[in-house]
Amino acid sequence: MHAKFVLLPGDGIGPEIVTQGRRILEGIASRFGHTFEMSEHMIGGCAIDACGDPLPESTLAACRASHAVLLGAVGGPKWDDPKAKTRPEAGLLKIRKELGLFANLRPTKTWDELVDASPLRRDIVSGTDILFVRELTGGIYFGESGRKPHASGEEAWNVMTYTTGEIERVVRLAAEAARRRRGKLTMVDKANVLEASRLWRQVSEKVVKTEFPDLQYNVVLVDAMAMHLISKPRDFDVVVTENLFGDILTDEASMLPGSLGLLPSASIGSSGPGLFEPIHGSAPDIAGKNIANPLATILAVAMMLRYSLNMNAEADAIETAVNNVLKAGARTKDIAGNGPSISTTEMGDKVLDALLKG
Ligand code: NAD
Repeated sequence: MHAKFVLLPGDGIGPEIVTQGRRILEGIASRFGHTFEMSEHMIGGCAIDACGDPLPESTLAACRASHAVLLGAVGGPKWDDPKAKTRPEAGLLKIRKELGLFANLRPTKTWDELVDASPLRRDIVSGTDILFVRELTGGIYFGESGRKPHASGEEAWNVMTYTTGEIERVVRLAAEAARRRRGKLTMVDKANVLEASRLWRQVSEKVVKTEFPDLQYNVVLVDAMAMHLISKPRDFDVVVTENLFGDILTDEASMLPGSLGLLPSASIGSSGPGLFEPIHGSAPDIAGKNIANPLATILAVAMMLRYSLNMNAEADAIETAVNNVLKAGARTKDIAGNGPSISTTEMGDKVLDALLKG
């Protein structure tokens, strides 16, 4: 197969980790006989420096013409001035909007070898394997907002709005993912209080009952979910929820495995390229030192192949290679504890080697 990928290294450690992602794509192409065309473009702070725009038109055009986009990270102290005309993060928001990426997928999986780095006890967290599907373009972050004078000072408001169509498409996407995994779907809402949640519950139940009757389906209130996540995380397979609840729950869940450097994420729409990236930021404190953990980016490459191109065997091969490398004891500094550590490049070498050996 011939596929076209856009690589957006971005700022900080972005270029170092995306370089490792590129090597893994080259490894997959050679092992499975594909041709991958890859081009690099600017986003974030480096794009502001070069042309004053965190998402230049040329970058957006290249993304639109690709099968999928791999992003490193954007941002850093250099662009933090609150008086600046634009900020690196504006590039991220714009690319999500322009590509119509309405669902954010975040797998949260513990790795047995690293489970003792989790803030939770091994017997609670070991074996956790959850896929969060967060609605990304609706709800309170995009609803009407404002302020007006009030007797006590001011009054401020943000409105949470959802339509049937917005709920249907993300629930359908989550249900399809559940079918490919362990067949369990949990919808999280606050239907005892919020009208928008009551619409979520109604629409979600209809989609699942009519189109996915084979799934094991349940609903959980968001406050209860916050507790379940740290008391019985193994109970969940795919969890779908609206934007604000998803934002908070996915950050809570990202603590379970004990390392940010191992968690990938995908933002996808109904058609066109998806955006795949590690969940961590640009880590300016370690940029340029060749010590960043490239595994989250490498696992984002696996998600990219699985979700954008249906290349399940290729994605499995990458995940197995990462697993084997961790099992063999290879660690970058962030996950080494007091033990010895290897560099970003050496970790890339080891995963590539494991991938090519099959
Ligand atoms: P961060 O995730 O960049 O770093 C938090 C801590 O984790 C740091 O100590 C860092 O060294 C470490 N870390 C992160 N990724 C690592 C990796 N792969 N290997 C080893 N250690 C790693 O979060 P932050 O410090 O709050 O933010 C730094 C910059 O990144 C900010 O400008 C922020 O706006 C930006 N950011 C960007 C994104 C994105 O591009 N999607 C996401 C979050 C933060």
